[in-house]
Amino acid sequence: MTPVARTRFAARLLHPRAGSGEEALRSLSDARHLLSQGLCAICRERDDSAGRWLSYFIAESHTDPGVMARVTAAVGFCPAHTRHLLADASAPWLLPQVHDAALRGGSRLLSAAQEEGRSPCPACGASRDAAERGLSALLRVLHQPEMRTAVDGNTVCLQHLTTLAARARPSQALWLAETAAARLDEHPPDVVSLAGLDADSDRRAAQATRLDPFLPLERARQNSSVVARWEADLEIGCCPLCLGEQRAVHRLLRWMAASTGRGEPGREESGLCSRHLHELTAVGGEGVAAILEANTAAWLGRLVRFRRQLAEGRDARRAAGPELTRAVRCRACNEERMAGRRQLALLAAQVREPVAEVAWARTHGVCLRHALMHRETLPVPVRTLLEARLAQLRWEIDEALRKQDWHTRHEVKGAEMTIGRRAPTLLDGRVYAGLPAPSAPPRNQTSEPNEPDPAPKDDAADAARRTQWSST
Ligand SMILES: [Zn+2]
Ligand SMILES: [Zn+2]
Ligand SMILES: [Zn+2]
Ligand SMILES: [Zn+2]
Repeated sequence: MTPVARTRFAARLLHPRAGSGEEALRSLSDARHLLSQGLCAICRERDDSAGRWLSYFIAESHTDPGVMARVTAAVGFCPAHTRHLLADASAPWLLPQVHDAALRGGSRLLSAAQEEGRSPCPACGASRDAAERGLSALLRVLHQPEMRTAVDGNTVCLQHLTTLAARARPSQALWLAETAAARLDEHPPDVVSLAGLDADSDRRAAQATRLDPFLPLERARQNSSVVARWEADLEIGCCPLCLGEQRAVHRLLRWMAASTGRGEPGREESGLCSRHLHELTAVGGEGVAAILEANTAAWLGRLVRFRRQLAEGRDARRAAGPELTRAVRCRACNEERMAGRRQLALLAAQVREPVAEVAWARTHGVCLRHALMHRETLPVPVRTLLEARLAQLRWEIDEALRKQDWHTRHEVKGAEMTIGRRAPTLLDGRVYAGLPAPSAPPRNQTSEPNEPDPAPKDDAADAARRTQWSST
């Protein structure tokens, strides 16, 4: 489908004229187009919608106060859509505005008297709505034999097939579950069939690869002492909690991807969510096929149970859909949470020591996302440093925005103008996999990882580290 046809199709899904014969024919035609794109029709619709939303945001809707209010309430965009903006060659000038909104929204939540949740990322909202419209469109025409043949032809990923099965009428649900199971049985598992498309997977993998040199460094320092490892983490110049989480996941996935034979992860240790299945595949290795097989087997088990429940009483049928689509117990997501908790506990213990507390004040500090997650329990030195870093970030963003004005063209435009790509480490460290911003813009994904400075602490090394997150 051409981009124009796809946009018209999305508009028709949004405003269907229900009830007319013409509409039924159009639904069929739209579903035909949707399924003609190959695996996976719904994933594609979801990702295209987010791409369109972001393109329109860059070109036009950033001037709409309502849209910017949504960006503010969401404390900016999610890591995937922040990476999308960072990689878009037409967006660098807009990044200070986005970070300005994120900082305003995050600061308001941080100082709110009562705990308030942040709104979802607006681009994620657009993609979720598009996926819902696509699923509804398919459900409307699934009774047509032609549509069944098309769905049978490997045009919808397992994630969306099971979502359709959970929402369809029992006879259709049974057929969808059988189709999903037959496909898993017939074909060797591949990541797209299992987990669907992932528009961010290449960008995420490029950031995760930058963690590679930090795995042996962590091992070497940890073998020396826990304090040596902690100090090495702080010298890297990023949020230590994001670093701890992302590094732990990367270490786990590298181990899973490389493990074969004795000692390889058992079935009960192999469950991964869609995001982490893509990350595992990007790491690559001899053990990847076994992990995909284990996840396939787990999904086959779910489908068997689903089909059995459909044949049982009304209560079992009612529970069948939610059970089929409940979130996978992901080993990597658990590892991420555990590593974050352990790193936060170490931080809290470290800053109680007077010497370590002084050293902490010279570091990057935690990111705004982590501060919001732990706003009630953040140790005072952590909160104090965060407020200082956010004040410096505020100054840099204001300065970059001020210097976008034509009347400032005679002024020096220096390091503050790169705040667009540096700010994410202070707003949400996951954007760069818990590491400092790459030295080159992220669209050049071949840049070398930032190595930690091995030199002993002195003013020059300190200043070099500092410029990774702040030019103030
Ligand atoms: Zn899909
Ligand atoms: Zn998003
Ligand atoms: Zn963080
Ligand atoms: Zn996961």
